[in-house]
Amino acid sequence: DPRLKAISDAIRVVPHFPKPGIMFQDITTLLLDHKAFKDTVDIFVDRYRDMDISVVAGVEARGFLFGPSIALAIGAKFVPLRKPKKLPGEVISEKYVLEYGNDCLEMHVGDVNHGERAIIIDDLVATGGTLSAAITLLERVGAEVVECACVIGLPEFKVIAIVCCQNNGRLLDMT
Ligand code: 5GP
Repeated sequence: DPRLKAISDAIRVVPHFPKPGIMFQDITTLLLDHKAFKDTVDIFVDRYRDMDISVVAGVEARGFLFGPSIALAIGAKFVPLRKPKKLPGEVISEKYVLEYGNDCLEMHVGDVNHGERAIIIDDLVATGGTLSAAITLLERVGAEVVECACVIGLPEFKVIAIVCCQNNGRLLDMT
């Protein structure tokens, strides 16, 4: 796909952020490039338009930058998966382990119903720990997570990373 190189070129790499040794993939520069940003959203929309998806779940915070546009275009609802203590209503929570420490994602009870077909959107997948927690959260309320989709897949810097999953919350592979 000829659009992928321009998308890739629009992502800035910032060495030693937020800590020494980390090469941070900065997607804010992609958001400044109208064509690359639109192409990114369009690639996801083209993939999911006819897949009977009713839920687009976005992972805080950068999944919120892409998920709502995809949801609107494919006729689905957008469900934010948030860090702890951000959502005001009743939530279900899923803790997960990061390279350094733990984190947690929360979702409002009632946002997603049993049997709904969902996709999960984030900016980047590295270990897959965040996506696994997100999958588990949706599966706990009975949703079917069809796929996860990220703009970037590490470690080989794949632009547009589609992550398949099986229904026990584990990630299968990346294409
Ligand atoms: P994982 O759980 O797959 O190891 O890490 C993915 C999560 O970490 C995503 O929510 C993503 O936003 C964040 N993340 C880790 N490294 C980077 C990075 O270099 N750039 C950006 N934009 N996000 C990152």
